[in-house]
Amino acid sequence: MEKTYKTRIGVMGGTFDPIHYGHLMIAENAREQFQLQKILFLPAGRPPHKQHITEAVHRCRMVSLAISGNPWFALDQTEVESDGVSYTYLTMQKLKQRYGDVELFFILGADSLFDFESWMKPEAILQNCNILAAYRDNTGSFFGQLEYLDQKYPGKFFPLDTPSLAVSSQDIRMRVQYGRTIRYLVPEEVEAYIRNHKFYQKTPERKDGT
Ligand code: ATP
Repeated sequence: MEKTYKTRIGVMGGTFDPIHYGHLMIAENAREQFQLQKILFLPAGRPPHKQHITEAVHRCRMVSLAISGNPWFALDQTEVESDGVSYTYLTMQKLKQRYGDVELFFILGADSLFDFESWMKPEAILQNCNILAAYRDNTGSFFGQLEYLDQKYPGKFFPLDTPSLAVSSQDIRMRVQYGRTIRYLVPEEVEAYIRNHKFYQKTPERKDGT
């Protein structure tokens, strides 16, 4: 008898302030390597660890502009539409309720793999999803951490091989602030949106040092 597989959905969570090619590249590689039928880009509403961020409506518009050419990518506003701080474990519960009998794969970068256990209720997150962790250059400590997590939470963590793009949203905000180019770091439409809205030009009240 033919074995039936569950639909696999990737979830690319982030602040996306702004979205950049590093995010898009890991999502696309996750789609390919893990045969994901869809990837949800999930902008954080009010992340517990970041205080001053661009309004959700603009971060969502930048995501929409960035993903518009990829039929597998979709914007998911679950977190920006919920009140208060967004916790991943609650979001995963909501997605599971909404999508039913699917397999969820939460996609994250190597840096987030090291933070994972400081997130609220890591066990509850893993009840509803697997984790795909993108690794880049720092493979030694990355695989050590992956092995540690795999022993503690068997079968839940998978390495995701991606090309390396040393860019972060913080770099992009800094570059804009200092009048430096962000071309080829973000899609053209996102760059135009940032310029038109004069984002990131001066941020005296930011508490994350950018
Ligand atoms: P910031 O610089 O504001 O902290 P960020 O660029 O890290 O932002 P987030 O939106 O916070 O972006 O990140 C969402 C996810 O994308 C995280 O899991 C992060 O590890 C991952 N990520 C961010 N940049 C890259 C990159 N260049 N390559 C691979 N993964 C990345």
